[in-house]
Order: sequence, then C-alpha cells, then structure tokens
Amino acid sequence: MEIMLGRSKAEINLITDALGEKSYRAAQIHKSLHAGLEFSEMTDLSKTLREKLAENYIAQPVKIIKTLKSADGTEKFLFLLGDGNVIEGVLMRYKYGNTLCVSTQVGCRMHCAFCASGIDGLIRNLEAGEILGEVVSVNRYLSGGVGDKRKVTNVVLMGSGEPLDNYDNTVKFIRLLSEEGGLNISARNVSLSTSGLVPAMYALGKENLPVTLTVSLHSPFDAERQKIMPVAKKYSIAEILAACSDYFAHTGRRYIFEYVLIRGENDTERHAAALVSLLKGRPCHVNLIRLNEVKENNLKSGTEKQAYAFSAFLEKGGISATVRRKMGEDIEGACGQLRRRFLEEGNNQGVKFERADI
Ligand code: SAH
Repeated sequence: MEIMLGRSKAEINLITDALGEKSYRAAQIHKSLHAGLEFSEMTDLSKTLREKLAENYIAQPVKIIKTLKSADGTEKFLFLLGDGNVIEGVLMRYKYGNTLCVSTQVGCRMHCAFCASGIDGLIRNLEAGEILGEVVSVNRYLSGGVGDKRKVTNVVLMGSGEPLDNYDNTVKFIRLLSEEGGLNISARNVSLSTSGLVPAMYALGKENLPVTLTVSLHSPFDAERQKIMPVAKKYSIAEILAACSDYFAHTGRRYIFEYVLIRGENDTERHAAALVSLLKGRPCHVNLIRLNEVKENNLKSGTEKQAYAFSAFLEKGGISATVRRKMGEDIEGACGQLRRRFLEEGNNQGVKFERADI
C-alpha cells in the first residue's frame, strides 16, 4: 500500500477529488497526518471517508516499537517500517528544545570503520514520508501537535545512512518539515551530516535550503582518512573543502566538521596540527566526538581529558572547536547499535505493524 504522509496538500487534494470530497478535506487530512494521526483517529472526517482512505493508503509509515531512556534524558527509538525493516532515531533534550536525530536509509553503504550502521551494507533508501514519519511519530509521542504545538524543534540527519546517497528523498523531507500546516520546522533548524559526497554537496548548495552542512572529516590526511572511511578514496579532502566553500558562498552558513576521536588513529598532536593548517581561516567549526565503542571492531576511545586537550590545541590554533557532550551512552547511543542488537536477538520475528503500547 502507498504511504500518505509526505504527500503535499495538492497531492492529497487529487485523492480527495477522486473520492468526490470537498477540497478543504485535503487540508484537514494533511494536518492530521503531520500530527501523527491514523485515519481511524481523524474524527473530523466521515466514517466512510476514513475507511476508504484506510483501504488504500497507510497514514503513518513509521511506528515506534521500542524506546530506551537514558539517565541524562536522551531517548532512543526503534521504528518499524511497513515492510518489516527496523530503523532507529535518538531524541536529545536541550534547554532550547528537543532535537531528533533521524535515519535516512536502512543500513548504509559507506562502511566507515568505526560505525555500526554500515556493517551489513545498504538495505534500502527511506522514502521522504518515512523520514518525516520518524519526526511525526516522536513528536506525537511527546504529545506535540503541528506548528507552534510541535515538541520536536530541531532535526539532525545524523542517524543511520548517508543522507546525500538518498538525495531526492532527503531534500523532499527537509521541505516537508517546513510545509505550511505541518510541523513548521525551518531548514535553519536542520543539520545534515555527510561523509563527503562532493557532487551532492554542490547540488545541496543550490537548493535554497539553509540547512547546516556537517561533514564527517575524521582525519586531515587523505591516506589515513581512506582507512577510516572508504568513501575518501572517491573524494579528496581538498575537493571536500572546495565544496564547503561553495556551500558557504551559496548559503552564507558556517559549516561544521565532525571528527570522531579514535585512540591512536587520529587523535595525536600531528593530527591536531594538520587540522589547524587545513582549516585555518575557514568559516567552520569542529565538533569533536569521543568514539562510542562498538563490539564489531577493535577501535578504542581516548579519555575525556585527551579530547579536551585536542580541542584546546585547535582553539589555540584559531579553529573553533567543541567536544560533543556524550549523551545516551548507557542506551547504545552510537549509530546503528540499537538496531543491530534488536535484529541479532531475533526480536523482529512476528512484529506487527502497529504502534507499541508505550
Ligand atoms: N553518513 C553521514 C551521517 C551518518 S553518521 C555521515 O557520515 O556523516 C553521523 C555521525 O555519526 C558520524 O560523523 C560520526 O561522527 C557519528 N558516529 C557513527 N558511529 C559512531 C561511533 N561508533 N562513535 C561515535 N560517533 C559515531
């Protein structure tokens, strides 16, 4: 069955027209979908219409089937998709609002050495409505509504998958987030993280979407970066930096580099010094992330002290840098970990496509 969430009001209008309904019904349905309602809950529609819609369409393509809450308030979600695939997201609570980290693909084909998401490769892309479904379902879980009543205020595309490897759906999703009548989350409150797919970075700059571009750098040296991230064999650091400059020229927005600190691999003074020369004078910020160790590889995290020393070195060299606060460590916070555990334990057998009673 086809998914209804993610269709524009005009697209829904075509469906209601075909069913002989008045056009204001499309706006009602659109609003209810973005608020996370199933057709059966859309009580402002006639029962016949609700039933007709439910016969032909899936209203909500993403169901929350499990949540894990950390002592620090961070919450992990396991989402079930219509075809039985499982993805995950993370909610981080800050003073200024709630940020949801969403997945853009089931699995990932980037195979970064430290990451649990890509171990089994890419299974499939998510549709725009499915990525939106992650936000809509968590917003409802938090008792949020549409527009000013939303409880999810910021979105980061940093969950499983490579957003720019699923370009069209990702861009459509960002536009849906800010659609009138929907959650009304502006692209300014969206960060997109990429492993550095250069042609797509250029394309994104031309979309007229002021998202914060975040690039996973992880090394200032091409040869070493290639060992951490196979995709680095395709695009050099110089090409990535040129694409960042182009993004800045189009959007005027400072870009961010993510740098996962892996003990002994990319966290020495040699690396910090090279990063300073590489990034000096650029309108950028470096987000240092202490590795979340995953059992599938032998990479180790350094100490907190080492991370702060690395950060101080960058700052002294004139590069704006912060160490990302570790959140949700007690709940398998790293990308793809929760999903892997869930599948390994065989929990997906016989899971019904419906919202869990949570
Ligand atoms: N494919 C995109 C987005 C998903 S990964 C990208 O590469 O940017 C987003 C970020 O998750 C990566 O930059 C990395 O910083 C982080 N990440 C993944 N696995 C991690 C782990 N085991 N420990 C710490 N951070 C991790």
